[in-house]
Amino acid sequence: MTTGGHGTDGVERRGLMFVLSSPSGAGKTTLSRMLIAETPGLQMSISATTRPMRPGEVDGKDYFFVDQKRFELMVENGELLEWAHVFGNRYGTPRGPVEAALASGRDVLFDIDWQGTQQLRDRSGKDVVSVFILPPSVAALEQRLHTRAQDSDEVIRGRMKKAGDEMSHFDAYDYIVVNDNIGIAFEAVRSILRAEQLKRERQVGLEGFVRGLRNQLEK
Ligand code: 5GP
Repeated sequence: MTTGGHGTDGVERRGLMFVLSSPSGAGKTTLSRMLIAETPGLQMSISATTRPMRPGEVDGKDYFFVDQKRFELMVENGELLEWAHVFGNRYGTPRGPVEAALASGRDVLFDIDWQGTQQLRDRSGKDVVSVFILPPSVAALEQRLHTRAQDSDEVIRGRMKKAGDEMSHFDAYDYIVVNDNIGIAFEAVRSILRAEQLKRERQVGLEGFVRGLRNQLEK
């Protein structure tokens, strides 16, 4: 893939791993969907999970829904790039699709928690860009969880309690976006991705490209 569609022949980019994390209800899923829809060449990493499917979810699209045994096998066989316990269930990132995407210069978007982000950073530090989404207030967080109406009151109470824990890890992230307005938060996240894509060290072949420009100028 070229860097920006400006005819920069021979300039390729190494794919990056773009991580969005947040307490549930801060708008991360909506932001992920918007980003995938608006960014050519960005691929969503579909996680495997042992949690039950929610109404409206599709196996293989939202998650790969697997049982405990299958999950354990994936761990044993080294099929997961990272995995963690979240809310009593297990979640993990299948390795194959991520490696294939990165190798062909595509970027990959991850919706994973702070534990998974840490594991990715330990493994592939320079290719990881992490963004933490915060809600503007506790009231907004609670309202979003209720509006979503996919979980029981008990689950929502549990998620509110866990939100504080999750937020305490904000300081391990490269960027922080407060999602007060979804349109503004989306622009912020998209700008971060775009700027990171254009980092000099992610662009392969720049030397040759600039040399070519200079050669033509010297003729
Ligand atoms: P949910 O059950 O609401 O879809 O997700 C619960 C939490 O698990 C979210 O914070 C989400 O980011 C996290 N999560 C989803 N997939 C993965 C994964 O593959 N690895 C890790 N570490 N966390 C994940």
